[in-house]
Amino acid sequence: MSKNDPGGRPSGTDNGTIPQREAGPSGAAAGENPQNGRPIRVYHRCGGCGKKQEFLNSGRFRVNANGNLVDVWLIYRCKKCKHSWNLTICERTKPAKIPTERFEAFQTNDAETAAAYGRNIDFLKKNHAEFK
Ligand SMILES: [Zn+2]
Repeated sequence: MSKNDPGGRPSGTDNGTIPQREAGPSGAAAGENPQNGRPIRVYHRCGGCGKKQEFLNSGRFRVNANGNLVDVWLIYRCKKCKHSWNLTICERTKPAKIPTERFEAFQTNDAETAAAYGRNIDFLKKNHAEFK
């Protein structure tokens, strides 16, 4: 019932010893930097082409507030025809349950956050993405 925040977060690294923030372009304080920064190749049946195609992370989120609940998607696009495919990040979630920073990242189409989802295999699998 309570599955939220598919982005996950690194745990157990806050020993409070050295505040490491160096070489961060314009305050990128997000501690999410998985070992390999490569996006995962994703395939999905395209409604435009009518067959399986590679989809690319558009880097854009779609936030839809409805009542006091929020839906958030990350938009992928067909490599061939640009048909869009929305991958669910959260559904009917109370905004209070979404960390403020993350919610702002969704609303501003934060590139790093979008890329992080693009490297999140669990998130992609939940959305029935296919991999080659
Ligand atoms: Zn297509």
